[in-house]
Amino acid sequence: MMIPYGKQDISAEDIAAVSEVLRSDFLTQGPVVPKFEKAVTEAVKAKYGVAVNSATSALHIACLALGVGPGDRVWTSPVTFVASANCALYCGADISFVDIDPDTYNLCPKALEQKLIVANDEGTLPKVIIPVHLAGQSCDMEAIAALARQYDIRVIEDASHAIGADYAGDAVGSCRFSDITVFSFHPVKIVTTAEGGVAVTNNLQLAERMQRLRSHGITRDPELMTKAPDGAWYYQQIELGFNYRMTEMQAALGLSQMQRLSLFVERRRGLAKRYNELLSDLPVTLPQQLADSASSWHLYIVRFHLEKIEKTHSQIFDECRAAGIGVNLHYIPIHLQPYYSDLGFKQGDYPAAEAYYANAISIPLFHSMTDAQQDEVVRVVKEIVL
Ligand SMILES: *Cc1c(COP(=O)(O)O)cnc(C)c1O
Repeated sequence: MMIPYGKQDISAEDIAAVSEVLRSDFLTQGPVVPKFEKAVTEAVKAKYGVAVNSATSALHIACLALGVGPGDRVWTSPVTFVASANCALYCGADISFVDIDPDTYNLCPKALEQKLIVANDEGTLPKVIIPVHLAGQSCDMEAIAALARQYDIRVIEDASHAIGADYAGDAVGSCRFSDITVFSFHPVKIVTTAEGGVAVTNNLQLAERMQRLRSHGITRDPELMTKAPDGAWYYQQIELGFNYRMTEMQAALGLSQMQRLSLFVERRRGLAKRYNELLSDLPVTLPQQLADSASSWHLYIVRFHLEKIEKTHSQIFDECRAAGIGVNLHYIPIHLQPYYSDLGFKQGDYPAAEAYYANAISIPLFHSMTDAQQDEVVRVVKEIVL
């Protein structure tokens, strides 16, 4: 039996909540989606939440709501899931990347500052920056937000990994340092709706725009119409939107799961602390944490000192898998993907991201992981590296 790198936790209450929706009058666009949105906004201390069918959709409509379109530029980290960059391309904008901080693996504020100075001189400043809270640890948002203010750039936090995390005394998602924050509820993430995402914001206009974009660009608000309604049935499509709606079943699962958010994060923090202790004497670099951040620990990423271990990266990976440890790698730097090479990106563009990719491996971490399972992971890793 493989110990997976991540796994959802489904309780009897979760199953009952989904079943109840199936027996109700609404399978989509009913009362549970707004309840789930409220549970998320209350947990992360944001004013408005817009639930959609994935974080990818949330990133797309977040970009559109901020006015991203052809001719605009969006910057993100190269070490993230492809969705963080694809959202800009969906809008017809250009994408570029800011290299990572070699210690936290998050978008590096110093690299950002340097790139902004050049872009300012060349007239190629981005409209939006998308910092990604890798593994659940917040980026250095104070520094990023200060630069964004200086150059008049909007910020979307990709917090797909970071529900339940804290930064600078606030929950990630409070949007103190951003316009919009996006969460993912895919089963590998901390809280799941099977497929699902929520965009949160403190700006009513942005929330209303995203609500419209998730449902075809249609409005029922007479104030926004070009003429008086023809009758009570009337609606108008005033821009081009999508069908990105979340179902009631998904929302019911998410609402039930959100009751256990603090339990989930508490257990993950406990497991991470235990890994920190049990792996401390090995030829590896363990996850480094900023003083003012408390990660939600979506992932536990280890970097192997290959020169000391005298094995290749993929040998270590294969030996873990062969021993029943379901390791993974987050992520192949996006600029090295063939689709992005075709856009002109190449090996050597982001050296810190490439160095990270050369020796990083995510080892198992999930809510229901037992201490015995964790001990087994540690035993196997020790055997491979010592
Ligand atoms: C999972 C993930 C996404 C996409 O989430 P979906 O809900 O699967 O669309 C985007 N960004 C990051 C960093 C992710 O980990």
